[in-house]
Amino acid sequence: MSGVRRLEQSVERHSQRFRELRRDLEQLQHFCKGTVLQRMMKCGKAHCACASDPAKRHGPYFELTYKANGKTINVKVSPEAAPLYRAASQQYRKLKVLLNRLEKLSQTILRHQAKLAQSQRRA
Ligand SMILES: [Zn+2]
Repeated sequence: MSGVRRLEQSVERHSQRFRELRRDLEQLQHFCKGTVLQRMMKCGKAHCACASDPAKRHGPYFELTYKANGKTINVKVSPEAAPLYRAASQQYRKLKVLLNRLEKLSQTILRHQAKLAQSQRRA
């Protein structure tokens, strides 16, 4: 099998995978950067049970934590909204994985297409 044929087959195979991942990308739901944290808090009142007993702390309270410009940002999230943000942050991680794979496939395809273009010029 010629080198050109092998390159063409490789481009086709990788392009097939690229199209599959692009379909996964279309299935992606709303996403957001960050992690949802659950905290139990002291209220600060000296005579409240939470002051001495960690099991009596209030909550849970939810926060969305993410980095922006090197700073950690915490945003309060209601208990009702916490599952939404948790799902959205999972979607964000999925997006990053997909983008990473799509980029690597693209690099391979482009490299092989570049070789094909060069071999056509020589022929
Ligand atoms: Zn308290």
